[in-house]
Amino acid sequence: MYRSHTCGELRLQDKGKQVQLAGWVQTIRKYGAITFVDLRDRYGVTQLLFGESINAQLDRTPVGREFVLQITGTVIERSNKNAQLSTGDIEIDVHQYSILNRAAVPPFTIQDDTDGGDDLRMKYRFLDLRRNSARQNLELRYAVNRAARNYLHQQNFLDIETPFLIKSTPEGARDFVVPSRMNPGQFYALPQSPQTFKQLLMVSGYDRYYQIVKCFRDEALRADRQPEFTQIDCEMSFVEQEDILNMFEGLIKHIFQEVKGIAYTAPVERMTWEEAMWKFGNDKPDIRFDIPILNLKKPASVFPDCTDQRSLIEGASFGVFDEAEAVLAISIPGAAKFTRKQTDELTEWIKRPQIGMKGLATIRYNADGTCKSSIDKFYSEEKRKAIALAAGANPGDLILIVAGAEERTRKAISELRLEMGQRLGLRKPNEYKLLWVLDFPLFVYDEEGNRWVARHHPFTAPKPAQIQTMIENNPTIEDAANYLQHPYASIKANAYDMVLNGNEIGGGSIRIFQRELQEKMFEALGLSREEQQHKFGFLLGAFEYGAPPHGGIAFGFDRLCALLGGSESIRDFIAFPKNNAGRDVMLDAPATIDEIQLKELQIQTAVKNS
Ligand code: ASP
Repeated sequence: MYRSHTCGELRLQDKGKQVQLAGWVQTIRKYGAITFVDLRDRYGVTQLLFGESINAQLDRTPVGREFVLQITGTVIERSNKNAQLSTGDIEIDVHQYSILNRAAVPPFTIQDDTDGGDDLRMKYRFLDLRRNSARQNLELRYAVNRAARNYLHQQNFLDIETPFLIKSTPEGARDFVVPSRMNPGQFYALPQSPQTFKQLLMVSGYDRYYQIVKCFRDEALRADRQPEFTQIDCEMSFVEQEDILNMFEGLIKHIFQEVKGIAYTAPVERMTWEEAMWKFGNDKPDIRFDIPILNLKKPASVFPDCTDQRSLIEGASFGVFDEAEAVLAISIPGAAKFTRKQTDELTEWIKRPQIGMKGLATIRYNADGTCKSSIDKFYSEEKRKAIALAAGANPGDLILIVAGAEERTRKAISELRLEMGQRLGLRKPNEYKLLWVLDFPLFVYDEEGNRWVARHHPFTAPKPAQIQTMIENNPTIEDAANYLQHPYASIKANAYDMVLNGNEIGGGSIRIFQRELQEKMFEALGLSREEQQHKFGFLLGAFEYGAPPHGGIAFGFDRLCALLGGSESIRDFIAFPKNNAGRDVMLDAPATIDEIQLKELQIQTAVKNS
């Protein structure tokens, strides 16, 4: 037996007990004839006292940091108690010790506040994982996993594994491919998600499926993306959108309860995609704070229902606003008192290359009711006040206005909104606000290819009332400049995203389940009959054998864990993550392979093996 207790277990009640502990040496403190050693394992830290009788032996056979140590001793009360530590009332008077293994000096200190930089910690991730914070993150991940499984199990879902070596499932990213030795010149693809398999399982009659599963996407790695990541992937039969929303709202609320002890009793708010874009400038708004965007120009046809506010800025001969595609404003509560220096700094912020705007106009709605602005030359006091009021401002607020090309300006104002929310402390870390974003467009227009691509994926069903529009119209875009006039631009999908505090945590859709409509969808996306057959023959075929109506959703498991753990970074919640360049710096992968392996695969590479 190596140990009778863990290093996090012993308390004052255990005083007098003979115990055996095993763990890693965290610190060594020598005071003359006695030495204190902190011994650490997964469960905690226990202080060991090497008294005078054994200290000489310790001098002859010293221990070092991160040595693996086994000790036998007696639990005694500590004179100098440590309230920070669960074992802080006791220490172990060591009678015997043995070094189970030695350790090289670690490349960084294994403590909460480590001196190791990111790269070093990733290279020695097995040491990094000894740190409390890393361990707590993995524990949280496991708690989320358990909570999800328990809920889904209670709801009669079956966990069914699907293969990793498959044929490409296009979901908008590139596939990772695996060469087949037995079939020279042929390749498997790693799944971007189990999408088509879960749909096939519905055809097979497994009406509630889930899997906590790895997905692989070879995409340009934006900050905090991983080429392999985990989803809670789910699918259900005989459901409408409403059934899915209810079921998975339940899942997330259950996770909140189990993992964070938060009773999220309020219904999850809902918003259409159009409203999200119109009011918040993006499709995953952070609704913890209520600063809506005022649109001072109405775009051509993307948002048919929005209020036209053009009259507020027209006729003032202000070229910047007159010529801009979009003029957008937000009102910042209590910020009229900002100094000139502060507003100048905001102007610089919005001009940074990442945001890329030319400038920022401001209107101060002063406490005395007057409105002073940087555009006083063009707009009368009355007009300025009208803009302020339309932006929802109260006396004491500051209105920020940006103008420019549609998409960039929308992005800029939504970033500015988040930044101001952050600066004003309105994005509270311990507040969680869920939101369903609904009614996404079915298609987006791909300018480069002058064609339609699926906004979610090609298996997503249009709104039933718009199926006819899809069938009756041909996808050809005659006039690229006016693609918004094409009937496909207005087709909405039965698709939904779940958003948590401004982050998309899940997304899914009701699926197409009839062969004819699926073929029409593929045709709309520019796939010839032959390509459809080659890529999706199996699915089209399956739809001929009694496919039930079905729909599903997938949650980004890593992201969900990170958000619940109060972190921005998903990497911290993955045991062995890749770096921002998609490399595993510990394994040094990807790497070249042997000539022999290449030969077996009958593969020649243009890059010479080094
Ligand atoms: N497979 C989709 C995705 O990975 C999710 C879904 O539609 O269920 O985004």
